Amino acid sequence: MNKTLLKQKVCQAIAARKPDIIAVAEAIWAEPELGYKETKTAEKVEATFKQLGVEYKNKLALTGVKGRLKGGKGSKYSIAVIGELDAIICPDHPAASELSGAAHCCGHNAQIANMMAVTMGLIDAGAMAFLAGDVVPFAVPAEEYVEITYRNRLIEEGKIKYIGGKPELIYRGEFDDIDMALQIHLTSVPQERDNGFIEISTTSNGFIGKLINYKGVAAHAAAAPHAGVNALNAAMMGMMGVHAIRETFQEKDYIRFHPIITQGGDLVNVIPSDVRMESYVRAGNVPAMIDANERINTALKAGAMAVGATCEIKDLPGYLPLNNNPTLNDLLQNNAQTLIGEENVWVAPHMTGSTDTGDLSHIMPVSHPWIGSIRGVLHGKDYTVFDEDMAYIRPAQMMACTIIDLLYDDAEKADELMKDYKPLMSKEEYLTFLSGFEK
Ligand SMILES: [Zn+2]
Repeated sequence: MNKTLLKQKVCQAIAARKPDIIAVAEAIWAEPELGYKETKTAEKVEATFKQLGVEYKNKLALTGVKGRLKGGKGSKYSIAVIGELDAIICPDHPAASELSGAAHCCGHNAQIANMMAVTMGLIDAGAMAFLAGDVVPFAVPAEEYVEITYRNRLIEEGKIKYIGGKPELIYRGEFDDIDMALQIHLTSVPQERDNGFIEISTTSNGFIGKLINYKGVAAHAAAAPHAGVNALNAAMMGMMGVHAIRETFQEKDYIRFHPIITQGGDLVNVIPSDVRMESYVRAGNVPAMIDANERINTALKAGAMAVGATCEIKDLPGYLPLNNNPTLNDLLQNNAQTLIGEENVWVAPHMTGSTDTGDLSHIMPVSHPWIGSIRGVLHGKDYTVFDEDMAYIRPAQMMACTIIDLLYDDAEKADELMKDYKPLMSKEEYLTFLSGFEK
């Protein structure tokens, strides 16, 4: 069996499984669950692994499920195919859960479907017999950085240590037996285009999470404002302070600061004494992220100083910038071009959003391409899959072919990649970076 023929067989096997793959996507779509609560979703992953006869570990970082397909020519490397389990909150979406407002309008259900499609294709075509490495379909929890108060409680109860699923799994050693990782993410197709596309991702922003609390002194807002200290004025001055330093942010660093006020006062006739804000400070690289964060903290505190209030800031580990591996990117791009034509595949510029796959990309080679297959807006009420092949089948074929490239011929290509690869951080350096936030 030569490599080209093996790829063809696996792609045919994936296409033949289309009804099963879509059934996985739709079952998860029908019962969306938020991060670290994805118990039913995890059960669906486990049921599918059982049907396929795949060995797995479960309840990793509460809900993660990790399978393993053994390479018939040895286990030189392990390549993870990642699918995220969690939904987001979008109560306006027609498919949203009435109880929680959760909906899969970030398309993570399609990630799980593609992860299963790769697994089905490799098994059905008997491809593992020809590969010198393992494939690890890995369903991971809590990619979305939401419900921070709930997750802080899980942290206080000792159930998790980190808000994001991948940092948690790295901390727990669940990536220690994995050498590189592939995953996809859906994205929207502009109205003027009538077919989908694959966008090879290069880099994206990381961020530091922030909880900001201004404290003043309550007093009667009309009879005795002179006796109070207005925490809302302090917060507004703090935000104005950040605006005053925006001109110092450099384009190359892609700094973003987008706060919300979650508590602006208690009663309209009382001087606000307890004002709370949340924000991220995002940037395209770690030094810029740390520098902008420190200067933003100074500006926020200056707001408190102006009116005699106090300002407490809790910085939380967010996600690191995403750095996709060029070799993995090239392999994916070549396979995508063969599958859907050169005109439908291109390389994306830097993106200013963030993902916890950024953390993983600091310790191992990762590729996280964008799959244009939906109409409407990611996280929006009009999100809908319009190109089923592009959402559920093509990404799986592209990843399966890339795995074959890496692990065929005694894993010659994976050898080449790993020989030149230098991680941005060792796992120890990464965990030290995270624990720096505890001080
Ligand atoms: Zn997402």
